[in-house]
Amino acid sequence: MGPPGGGKGTQAARLAEALAIPTISTGAMLREAVAAQTPVGLDAKAYMDRGDYVPDEVMCQLVLNRIAEDDCVNGFILDGFPRTAEQAEALAGHGVVIDKVLYIDVPDEVIVGRIGGRRVCAKCGGTYHTKYTPPKIAGQCDECDGELIVRADDTPDTIRNRLEVYHKLTAPVLAYYNGVIVSADGNAPVEQITDVLLKALGKA
Ligand code: AMP
Repeated sequence: MGPPGGGKGTQAARLAEALAIPTISTGAMLREAVAAQTPVGLDAKAYMDRGDYVPDEVMCQLVLNRIAEDDCVNGFILDGFPRTAEQAEALAGHGVVIDKVLYIDVPDEVIVGRIGGRRVCAKCGGTYHTKYTPPKIAGQCDECDGELIVRADDTPDTIRNRLEVYHKLTAPVLAYYNGVIVSADGNAPVEQITDVLLKALGKA
């Protein structure tokens, strides 16, 4: 968990590789649905473009279905879910046990400064930052050679709304996980944050 633009996607991908378990990134799933123009995607797009949350019923169904797939039997990393009290309750209500909540702490002013450099692969959804996690070749994904683009919701106006929504709806959700929360300073170098998180999981 952590604010938008705080490095959740980057860390989730690194942890998934180190732990050999899948990452369930709700933002990436929605962006795929938007690109494929599925009913969920067509519905979600307007919320995402504004920086608002997609309704809980849609999100809970998406995640619970995904968790039920075979590759999740040995565990999974949730990136961007739960983001509301209802979503946290849906997980608990379906008996999904969360071992640790990894919280990446980044102040709003740092987020606003970082957002301009964020890039996402149009093909595989991989995330980059021109300064902090640059691709090997500018504008091209290291994994699949896809084109790196700026997310439609990474504009200064949208990020301000996303931060506002985060503080109002998501920050209070941390209280649900008292006792299993591990915090990392999101201003630290990417590798260092991964180490802190892996240690917290007893894997480093
Ligand atoms: P992210 O890539 O995690 O920043 O997510 C991008 C956008 O997808 C968010 O700003 C929301 O509009 C939507 N979204 C992703 N995850 C959720 C969620 N758990 N609940 C509601 N909306 C979500």
